[in-house]
Amino acid sequence: MASIFTKIISGEIPSFKIYEDENYFAFLDINPNALGHTLCVPKKEVDQVFDLDDDALSGLMIFSKKVAHAIKKAVVCKRVGISVIGLEVPHVHVHLIPINTMGDMSFDSKIQLTKDQFVEIMNKIKSYI
Ligand code: 5GP
Repeated sequence: MASIFTKIISGEIPSFKIYEDENYFAFLDINPNALGHTLCVPKKEVDQVFDLDDDALSGLMIFSKKVAHAIKKAVVCKRVGISVIGLEVPHVHVHLIPINTMGDMSFDSKIQLTKDQFVEIMNKIKSYI
């Protein structure tokens, strides 16, 4: 069965899309740790990040770098943290999270955004890609 992220990539499930290329897709996390929290996903459905072949893994990092630079310009933060978890969705994804402290990487603290706030930050990040 297709993963929820494959359904997002195909447009079957809506998302706040930031950017895509031939092989990767970036969209806002629906339950963000911070404003601008973005997921970068390979279009090819693989469960665990270190099962990606070398080209797919390096391509994902290069794609994530492009998105992270745009997030850094769009959100006031010290840096953009990167994390790979995958305990909830078994389809490789890189979390890009604007951070000011180590604690901002914690998945125990979440923020609530309205649809308008999602749209606003999506458009702002997109404008820097
Ligand atoms: P992980 O698999 O890395 O533990 O967490 C999966 C992440 O995907 C979570 O941060 C969660 O909020 C996000 N997520 C799960 N389902 C959806 C969805 O349908 N849309 C979006 N945009 N994010 C999702």
